[in-house]
Amino acid sequence: MDLKDYGWDEGFAVSFADLSERGLEPARVVRQSRDLSTLIASSGERLGEVSGLFRNRARGPADFPAVGDWAAVRTVPGGRAVIESLLPRRSAFTRKAAGEAVEAQVVAANVDTVFLVSGLDGDFNLRRMERYLTTAWSSRAEPVVVLNKADLHADSAAFAAAAAGVAPGVPVLAVSALAERGLESLGPYLLPGRTIALLGSSGVGKSTIINRLLGEERFATAAVSDAEAGRGRHTTSARELARLPGGALLVDTPGMRELGLWADDEGLDRTFEEIDALAARCRFPDCGHEHEPGCAVRAAVEAGRIDRARWESFLKLRREMRFLELKKDEKARRQHEKAVGRDFHARLKEIKRHKPRYR
Ligand code: GDP
Ligand code: ZN
Repeated sequence: MDLKDYGWDEGFAVSFADLSERGLEPARVVRQSRDLSTLIASSGERLGEVSGLFRNRARGPADFPAVGDWAAVRTVPGGRAVIESLLPRRSAFTRKAAGEAVEAQVVAANVDTVFLVSGLDGDFNLRRMERYLTTAWSSRAEPVVVLNKADLHADSAAFAAAAAGVAPGVPVLAVSALAERGLESLGPYLLPGRTIALLGSSGVGKSTIINRLLGEERFATAAVSDAEAGRGRHTTSARELARLPGGALLVDTPGMRELGLWADDEGLDRTFEEIDALAARCRFPDCGHEHEPGCAVRAAVEAGRIDRARWESFLKLRREMRFLELKKDEKARRQHEKAVGRDFHARLKEIKRHKPRYR
């Protein structure tokens, strides 16, 4: 198998150089379910799991393989792959892991382009679009805004213009998956070996777009694999990295399509580029652009040069991010206290164990 068909390139080869000297082979994770990875290596498809050392070194769920990861594997007798390490991710879509803990889990890695899908119906919402953009930029994938259901409006250009207003530097495409209109505009992002993913609320037409991209044949295959998994899901999504007829790679995992906000400041600043650009002119270098005197951003809002709703959206997203960070810190603190407590009890036990000797 030619790994280039799966997105392997010069950049990955460079970061792999040391690993291949250790006799490891590169392989891409095309499917991930709990501990089991399905990988594509140049010698073919194999199942694999992380090594014991990998497991010990992992600091959290985000360090474990995700769909799209490039792994360094060793093949053991029987044909299984042992994953020794992962190449640094160019991009990573992250969400909060299930459960109480505020912990990151990577849903998809090394995505080149993410289509942020909105529907030109009740779903169309600029504030939500900013939210998705923040998530996309934070992942380090390149976002493309896709406005689906263009058939519902005679004038989809007006929507496209409004979307472009909140998405500086991001291409905006109007399509209709149902009427099969405008889908060719997605073509430039669907090049062989490029990895793409779709993100958007339920009902915007992601499945319909994906089915159009995959073609009928794949439709059947995916339905079968779902039935095999015994889940009886009516959806046509293969929970994996799938090759499109044209050679692009489509990430389609259950968690990918509707990610909650998991963002960083860089992603936020990228989304609100014009606000970030003004920040340098604020009186205080750490200006929060809220109530501080001499705030250039607020001045621009008052003067109508920055849309007030957009500024409020920026503040809201940032507050939400800070809240998540706080919870993350809290968790780290609790873990630390637990570890300290553990040490204390271990010491106590030790002392008790030795006590009789000194009696
Ligand atoms: P998903 O939840 O994002 O995967 O959305 P679906 O692909 O399941 O589509 C949701 C609904 O929108 C379905 O009833 C589709 O037939 C409809 N839909 C999808 N694309 C279009 C479109 O381009 N135009 C119109 N009018 N409806 C569409
Ligand atoms: Zn400011």
